[in-house]
Amino acid sequence: MDSVPDYLQTGDPAPDALKGSSSIEPELEPGDLEPQQDTGRNQATSLLMQAPAAIAVLRGPNHVFELVNPLYERMVGRKAGDLMGRPGRDVLPRVTDGRMWEILDRMYVTGEPYDAGEVELPRSQYDDHPGELSWYNIVSQPTFDHVGAVDGILLHAVDVTEQVRSRQRVEELVAELETERARLSLGQRVGKIGTFDRDVVHDRVIWAADLEALYGYEPGELQGSGRDWMSMVYPDDRLRVRDSIARSMSERQPIHVEFRIIRKDGSSAWMRADGMVQYGEDGSAQRVIGVNVDITERKLAEDNLRFLSNASTLLSTSLDYDSTLNTVATLAVPNVGDWCSIEMLDPEGELQSVAVVHKDPERVEWARELRAQSPIDMSSPQGLPQVLRSGNSELYPHITDEMLVASARDERELSLARSLGMTSAMIVPIWSGGMPIGGITLVTTESRRRYTETDLAMAEELASRASLAIDNARLYRQAQTALALRDEFISIASHELKTPVTSLKLYAQMVGRQALRKGDDATVLQLSKMESQVDKLTKLIANLLDVSKIEAGKLEHQVEEFDLVELVREVAESPKAVDESHAVWVEACDPIVLTGDRDRIGQVILNLLANAIKYSPNSEKVEMRVLRDGMTATVDVHDFGIGIDPRFHNHVFDRFFQVADPEERTFPGLGLGLYISREIARRHGGDITVDSTKGNGSTFSLVLPLPGGAPQAS
Ligand code: ADP
Repeated sequence: MDSVPDYLQTGDPAPDALKGSSSIEPELEPGDLEPQQDTGRNQATSLLMQAPAAIAVLRGPNHVFELVNPLYERMVGRKAGDLMGRPGRDVLPRVTDGRMWEILDRMYVTGEPYDAGEVELPRSQYDDHPGELSWYNIVSQPTFDHVGAVDGILLHAVDVTEQVRSRQRVEELVAELETERARLSLGQRVGKIGTFDRDVVHDRVIWAADLEALYGYEPGELQGSGRDWMSMVYPDDRLRVRDSIARSMSERQPIHVEFRIIRKDGSSAWMRADGMVQYGEDGSAQRVIGVNVDITERKLAEDNLRFLSNASTLLSTSLDYDSTLNTVATLAVPNVGDWCSIEMLDPEGELQSVAVVHKDPERVEWARELRAQSPIDMSSPQGLPQVLRSGNSELYPHITDEMLVASARDERELSLARSLGMTSAMIVPIWSGGMPIGGITLVTTESRRRYTETDLAMAEELASRASLAIDNARLYRQAQTALALRDEFISIASHELKTPVTSLKLYAQMVGRQALRKGDDATVLQLSKMESQVDKLTKLIANLLDVSKIEAGKLEHQVEEFDLVELVREVAESPKAVDESHAVWVEACDPIVLTGDRDRIGQVILNLLANAIKYSPNSEKVEMRVLRDGMTATVDVHDFGIGIDPRFHNHVFDRFFQVADPEERTFPGLGLGLYISREIARRHGGDITVDSTKGNGSTFSLVLPLPGGAPQAS
């Protein structure tokens, strides 16, 4: 009450002097205020009028305005003249929605002061910024008469808009910072990033909570030296990490290094550290600030991809699936699991173990024994039997003890299963002909890796590639069997045909001679045609016989010395080669003496010449050339015929290969001549090559080593 001037307590009206002091010159009516009574009161009034707060004095239970200062006028937007001597409710009914008057009514009864705190008000028309929101700290204080009864109220309002605004700005900034921090922290969590700050001089590392979380620790648990951190790096990676950091520091480059860590719970993870080094004036490293990023998933995905592509290569190159599956299992450990086993159904429907690989080789035997002692129960509602029945993979991300208890058939099995220390497992089926025929089981133990859906997808992909390889292997086996049967047939048929055809020829010759003696020209002519057909048949049979001899490794060679030039001339002039349509030109050097099977080499040259004639129906000559070149002798047979597309060059030497081309269907043959010829050439340490393009004729070259060159046929 001390702060309230006397006149306010007595209920005396405010002095006239007030009226003229308003900055907005309120128009006061004569008699609004009582005349000046004394100087003390004048001074107090003057003080109130100049006070840096909005002040109003209300008198009586109807809150009649007795005094308003200019700031109050400004606050409520009414001139003193409109307010003075009038009840507050009448002139300012809507102030704070009228609640103020109720509060003041109550104060009048209780005599208690009232602190309204910060009240939000729109600025009045007398303000510089009318309509803008402003805040006033409003306190209402009752005044008392000489007997202590409430006789008025002093309203005191301080414009705190600026303070509120600044506070709000600070609050907004704090909120923004908080959001930013939360976003950063979320980003770090999502991106699996944690920060560190290492004081190199005092060897102290400050770990951010995010980084501690990446290493599996609680906030504040990891505050130690660089060495403490290094002890969490995988032992195999420590030297590399240390070298890499030292190199970055000496080259004044940022640190970038990838490594594995062992988390608090013993599991492992891949991290990438990126750091900036700060150097002191003496050039020594003072501080390293940086981040660790958990790159485990990326690394695992890379591993999976690498593993899959390696496995695919292996699967596509081998056609023996037992050994291939073994290789896949070997490859899977330790990349994908600590233990991999592959089981296949045999024709009796029993599961056979095809491959077992364990990270610890000693455990392989042990795992085999385990399987032998407790064979898989095919009626089991889970595991491999279920995978084989349903064709669906099974994933066990986390193998618990309860699961072991539930699946073990007896105590012994349970203790065996427990001793395996399995963390996670997955089983995927291998298919053939639309049926599951086996399964790949992958298990993690020591690595404590937990399989995810991504790993399962990779394992399924692996199994599907293995399935394809198995199908291929089966088809290959079938094809091999069919080929073996064909070769056997060729061998038997050619042997069986040889004798009757030889007899046929002899009889034909005999009958021919008789007809000649009788002068039966027509029969002679027919028989000579027949003989030439029998010759063709003989040649075919001879080829087939040669093929089966080559396949059986029984192609025999006589070894003798002979002159290659002479042999070429002989072949070129032989009636078997020459036909009326083509002239055969031979260009030869001095004699070239070779060691080998003259007849077989002659057979090769004849075959090349016969082809040259056969495949050049529209030309009239074939050129042959014999030359010596360093350690080799070469026979070139050049025709001007249909030629061969280069993409068939390698294949023309394959068994039964004929260029499949509409144009060439018209040429008879079995596709065996070049195969046999190349075999013969190679057995003599030589070879046959071809140089040709479609439509431009061909040159086949028989190359043979000169004595003292490459090994000769024996
Ligand atoms: P064929 O009995 O079919 O002639 P070869 O083994 O001698 O069997 O030849 C294989 C294939 O090579 C032939 O079918 C033919 O398509 C092609 N060929 C061989 N020699 C020639 C050549 N001089 N010109 C064009 N094509 C040839």
